[in-house]
Amino acid sequence: MGKKCRCGNGSGHDKKFMEVPELFGNNVFNDKVMRERLPKDTYKALQETISKGMNLRPEVAAVVANAMKDWAIEKGATHYSHWFQPLTGSTAEKHDSFISPTADGGVIMEFPGKQLIQGEPDASSFPSGGLRATFEARGYTAWDCTSPAFLKEDAAGNVTLTIPTAFCSYKGEALDKKTPLLRSMEAVSRQALRVLRTLGNTTSTRVIATVGPEQEYFLVDKEYYLQRLDLITCGRTLFGAPPPKGQELEDQYFGSIKDRVSAYMKDLDIELWKMGISSKTKHNEVAPAQFEMAPVFSTTNIAADHNQLVMETMQKVALRHNMVCLLHEKPYAGVNGSGKHNNWSLATDDGINLLEPGQTPDENAQFLVFLSAALMAVDTHADIMRATCGSSGNDHRLGANEAPPAIISMFLGEELSDVIIKLTKGVKTGRQEAAYLKIGVDTLPELPKDNTDRNRTSPMAFTGNKFEFRMVGSSQSISGPNVALNTIAAEALDQIASRLEKAKDVNAEILAILKDAIAKHGRIIFNGNNYSEEWVVEAAKRGLPNVRNTVDAIKAFVTPKATKLFEKYKVLSKEELHSRYDIYTEQYSKNINIEAQTAMQMVRRLYIPAAILFATELGNSIAVVGKSAVVQKELLAEVSRLLESADKNLKKVAAETVKAQAISGVAKQAAAFRDKVATSLADLRADIDALESITPGDLWPVPVYSDLLFKL
Ligand code: ADP
Ligand code: MG
Repeated sequence: MGKKCRCGNGSGHDKKFMEVPELFGNNVFNDKVMRERLPKDTYKALQETISKGMNLRPEVAAVVANAMKDWAIEKGATHYSHWFQPLTGSTAEKHDSFISPTADGGVIMEFPGKQLIQGEPDASSFPSGGLRATFEARGYTAWDCTSPAFLKEDAAGNVTLTIPTAFCSYKGEALDKKTPLLRSMEAVSRQALRVLRTLGNTTSTRVIATVGPEQEYFLVDKEYYLQRLDLITCGRTLFGAPPPKGQELEDQYFGSIKDRVSAYMKDLDIELWKMGISSKTKHNEVAPAQFEMAPVFSTTNIAADHNQLVMETMQKVALRHNMVCLLHEKPYAGVNGSGKHNNWSLATDDGINLLEPGQTPDENAQFLVFLSAALMAVDTHADIMRATCGSSGNDHRLGANEAPPAIISMFLGEELSDVIIKLTKGVKTGRQEAAYLKIGVDTLPELPKDNTDRNRTSPMAFTGNKFEFRMVGSSQSISGPNVALNTIAAEALDQIASRLEKAKDVNAEILAILKDAIAKHGRIIFNGNNYSEEWVVEAAKRGLPNVRNTVDAIKAFVTPKATKLFEKYKVLSKEELHSRYDIYTEQYSKNINIEAQTAMQMVRRLYIPAAILFATELGNSIAVVGKSAVVQKELLAEVSRLLESADKNLKKVAAETVKAQAISGVAKQAAAFRDKVATSLADLRADIDALESITPGDLWPVPVYSDLLFKL
């Protein structure tokens, strides 16, 4: 007999006999479970609430809560938790047990409807960026019933009924990442529907923003990890000379997966599948010890919830395999970093992908409208999109010799770009049957579907039926970037709808819209190599912004343009935008400060003592060997020089950190951390890395890059 499965379904079956379809979603209070367990009218009322985005009525909530509780208890749950996503970017949960004391000294298991609908966590220790006055410490969490409740299991055997919730202040201001995401989905749905109506669509009732986030990550042996304070406190190495072998052989990408990693991935899949997360693809990534997992896409808010769970589960499962999962954007200098490819599209509730070039003239007209919207949106608000991907970690990728650059451009592919240009210019097509392509009359020429060698350097690539936004950092929540995508799309679609609603000839107006989009925003289309120096020059000529660091990038949240946009579509108020700006700017400073503290400690307690030890050995050798100790003398001179320089730079880091800490005003402080602290840290690193490369391995106090990267 194999190990008993802990899936919690009570059958105690053999783990190896659990079939995937049975396992999948086994821990989710999904539609199937609701259908089985809820009275018909309750089920109907809940479905209506979900599909129309209405408030849950208390009498419905009471019945749903009770059914949820019974289901969860049968599967071993003792607690429930309102799970939410504060502005720290991670998730938060508070566990309450179902027990309720009875008069006779016993307990019953209870879960009243009002506890399903609303929770009141003490919010005072979550960042609010001034939104919540200190006297009003409470916030409240409210069930987002469009994202199903599920069971979370931990290694200790605890099972918790977990309820995805939005987190707001008592005045209703969003203190979290989910609330604006839901608002942005609403906004884009409303405007997209208006457009669809003008195109003659009378059947769709909602437009859903869909997202499939591909998640990159590194694995490292736990034993080595524990010897690196920088990995423990910062998630990345602050020191480390390049290994003799990097990724230049290109032998890792899609290479065969090692057994140890494969065992990890298998466990990860099982844990994710149980929670209804459709982990689909797994493979080695470009860098050594780097991997990727991609799920099947879903609605934006479920994708965002699931991605948080993916990150959490990746880390948990790694520990079971004596490994640690690194989600940082740049764990190792000189090696590829990690990102998240945020695949995004719009689909109607009756299953039409609005970014899919179609088979008929009408479908193509529709596609061209939504493509025009994307062009308008991304060019107008490139600064906002860039801002949503700002973090100290991602600064090591964006604009720092790595994909993608900090310049936002859009890849459409040669074929599609060509068709569009021809359309707008009324140029003859190569086809015999139609002299000129006419919108709404002709079909577009067949576009190659599977252009797998498509441009991998573009930050915003059209990949056949969706856009792939590749700037997102591997450790960040995907909410922010998708709030931006949805809202900027809403604005462009709003403008388009207003034109089409007034138009006498819709097809002629579509052509005019496309022409205008190309004329005003075509500068954003770029199909070439985004890594090249020529592109940086060309982009500047085109007037495209190139903001290389977070501190400057996130200012885009508080411009009059951003305020107007987010307020108009009721996604974020001016105050909510300012709170985010403050929090993210502060977060940047805090991260660099932690890096400085960690670096100083490592240098003082590990590296300088090691270098002194080496210098002493060399000194002893010179004393013994005498005149002919030429090499020893040379080495000693070099070690001494680096020691001196390291000491000087260490003092500089210390002084600059103290100065930066004393600065008031988040923007000024962050600028000091960027310009003074981070730069002196880089100087310090150069000395230590140089020392590492000449110090004997047995004297070096920490595992080096080749240990971390090649010994999985
Ligand atoms: P790759 O980019 O590696 O070639 P795919 O194109 O198959 O892989 O898909 C990558 C991701 O895009 C997957 O998570 C997939 O579910 C997602 N995706 C596919 N279609 C859509 C869509 N219409 N909307 C959002 N995401 C999508
Ligand atoms: Mg991809």
